Amino acid sequence: TAAHLTAMETARHLNAFILETPEIAQNQAAAADIALANGSAGPLAGIPLGIKDLFCTQGVQTTAGSKILEGFIPQYESTVSGKLLGAGAVMLGKLNLDEFAMGSSNETSAYGRVLSPWKARNSNADLVPGGSSGGSASAVSARLVAGATGTDTGGSIRQPAAFVGISGIKPTYGRCSRWGVVAFASSLDQPGPMARTVEDCALLLTTMCGYDAKDSTSLNVPVPDFAALLTGDLRGKRVGVPREYRLDGMDETIAKLWEQGLSWLKDAGAEIVEVSLPHTKYALPAYYIIAPAEASSNLARYDGVRYGLRVTPPGANLADMYAATRAAGFGPEVKRRIMIGTYVLSAGYYDAYYTQAQKVRALIARDFDRAWAHCDLLLTPTAPSAAFEFGAKADPLEMYLNDVFTVPSSLAGLPAMSVPAGLSPEGLPLGLHIIGKPLDEPTVLNAGLAIE
Ligand code: GLN
Repeated sequence: TAAHLTAMETARHLNAFILETPEIAQNQAAAADIALANGSAGPLAGIPLGIKDLFCTQGVQTTAGSKILEGFIPQYESTVSGKLLGAGAVMLGKLNLDEFAMGSSNETSAYGRVLSPWKARNSNADLVPGGSSGGSASAVSARLVAGATGTDTGGSIRQPAAFVGISGIKPTYGRCSRWGVVAFASSLDQPGPMARTVEDCALLLTTMCGYDAKDSTSLNVPVPDFAALLTGDLRGKRVGVPREYRLDGMDETIAKLWEQGLSWLKDAGAEIVEVSLPHTKYALPAYYIIAPAEASSNLARYDGVRYGLRVTPPGANLADMYAATRAAGFGPEVKRRIMIGTYVLSAGYYDAYYTQAQKVRALIARDFDRAWAHCDLLLTPTAPSAAFEFGAKADPLEMYLNDVFTVPSSLAGLPAMSVPAGLSPEGLPLGLHIIGKPLDEPTVLNAGLAIE
């Protein structure tokens, strides 16, 4: 813990943490030492972790990367962070993120952008760590923490993991409780671990999963010991290559990496088959209707009365106070999502957009169901490129396109993981993306191990 706290001090320029919690860490580390000495230690005793600042932490400020929650101190602990701390983990601090987890680059945080610890060969330009779990990605990659929690709504664990050369898994929707996680799009949000290795992810995931009566979408299914099931052996498994993911104009480096990944999985004993997911091209448009729709509803609660910021202009009535608080408290990307969301849910447009998007979502889930008749897992790239420079995707639509490979599995609620798979010609990390059948995290992790 002491070494990590020192590393955090020397890496403040990365801006990975919104809040460092050294006193809490020291107390928890001391408690872990005692537990280790007297034989009562949990499975994660003394492991230094960072917690994405979307997880409510009891008595510790939780901002969701937004000004509107500045100074909000939850009176309760999220189920997932509570499980990690209960297993003996040490919390080093709250990690930076895109505001309300909306973004793919960590440029939308009200607490400033997070830098990737990586730089391209022959360039001194700062690079984005990916998003929205960019603080988690940067802190793990720079070895400030041994692991971190992330959340993934449309790729926010997997894409930042790929950008900084670490592993991250989004489990099956419902495996990890959402209770106490600030809501973005409730039917998509899913917590998961980010760590340097597949094995570390498996260890953290075992502790993070489990039924929670406080989350109505929590799955009441047994949780295997994921680390104990790691063999890297893929004999008898068929790996599907979805033909629709071969995008026109795909970056050649990414295409080569994908081929290389398939040959590694073959070496581990898998058979490669081509499959079709015909509705893939509708996934992004459907996601960027459904996610903002749910977000606009979830974010209605930030009214200046119940949480954090309140702005009361002179002579303001209640409605003026709501408007002034929300105008000052939310950043531009969040406002954009609220406007899109309320529009697609409005009486006149509900059927044309929201209902249509829900139908597309069902078709995308059915595509995957049909593919599972021919294969046991899918391999794709995680993102269409390596990490980019700040400001490179100033057009929101261009930013949204970065999620093209991660969004379909989110809409279908499937487990999916990114593992580091090599470097671009510029020397930047690239990730490969494994999608599994519902609840088949063990196969996903095994394929990750075979690639890592
Ligand atoms: N980039 C996507 C978005 O902005 C995904 C974010 C996430 O998974 N939290 O919505």
